[in-house]
Amino acid sequence: MTDPLAGTQPEFGGMPARLYSCTPTRLMTWLECPRRYRMSYLDRPPPRKGPPWAHNSFGASVHNALAGWWRLPRPARTVAAAGSLLAQGWIGDGYAGTAQSEEQLARASRMVEAYAARLDPAAEPLGVERTVGLRTSAIVLSGRIDRLDERQAPGGGSELAVVDYKTGRRPLTGEDARTSMPLALYALAAARVLRRPCHRVELHHLPTGQVLGCDHTEQGLARQLSRAEDVAAECAAADGKFSAGAPAGQRDEVFPPRPGPGCGWCDFRAHCPEGVAASAARRPWDGLDTGDDLAGGR
Ligand code: SF4
Repeated sequence: MTDPLAGTQPEFGGMPARLYSCTPTRLMTWLECPRRYRMSYLDRPPPRKGPPWAHNSFGASVHNALAGWWRLPRPARTVAAAGSLLAQGWIGDGYAGTAQSEEQLARASRMVEAYAARLDPAAEPLGVERTVGLRTSAIVLSGRIDRLDERQAPGGGSELAVVDYKTGRRPLTGEDARTSMPLALYALAAARVLRRPCHRVELHHLPTGQVLGCDHTEQGLARQLSRAEDVAAECAAADGKFSAGAPAGQRDEVFPPRPGPGCGWCDFRAHCPEGVAASAARRPWDGLDTGDDLAGGR
């Protein structure tokens, strides 16, 4: 998902209250770890990140191949084409070596081709990697949806569905789709841009072929938007303190670390003593699934 350099807009006398510009990723980064948020979005120059993760390369390669597949002319959307696109755009960063990269390419090919075999090439999506946005009285939100479908609604007519591809090795459940704030925000933004209701969100877990879906109610979507606005207000307040030049000693009060075992995967772990103490170091390829099940990042 794209992430414009977002933040608060300047406030001028007599103008409406400032809006906070953000992406769902930015809000989730704040929720997961305010220190990582600071290092990702505010520190300039930004701290040097660790080396690229192979599972991220894997996930990005799969996403790019599926996006490219839908951009092909309809007759060219074959199963073999999905594998070819993957091979052409394969990102080899982060792997232990050429042999591991090739092995994972073969696994990803099987996964992408199996997924493509279940797609209807004629079911033209309304959008692929489509940027959508919405504006409320508090936030300006933008994000990019992997795929936006138009489906037949059970009661007749059609409905929009937000599709998010997942390639990680962790099994997913319907609860993941239901509780995902980013997915709910994408649904709201898609509805806003296309001027049609959108309640359906789906996680397509490519390693298992599972589709984990949720049909949100209006109330459920409104709750997620309200939650996003609350998070954005926290971010805006913290950004303001940062801009005002909070002394280094007070930075951790505004941007506290949230150390835990997951810190092993943090791009900024090397700059974070608490994260180092809380987690084991990970090699760039440790997030890959190298067993019989297929794996990857996003
Ligand atoms: S290592 Fe952990 S605590 Fe430190 S910045 Fe990263 S996520 Fe936050």
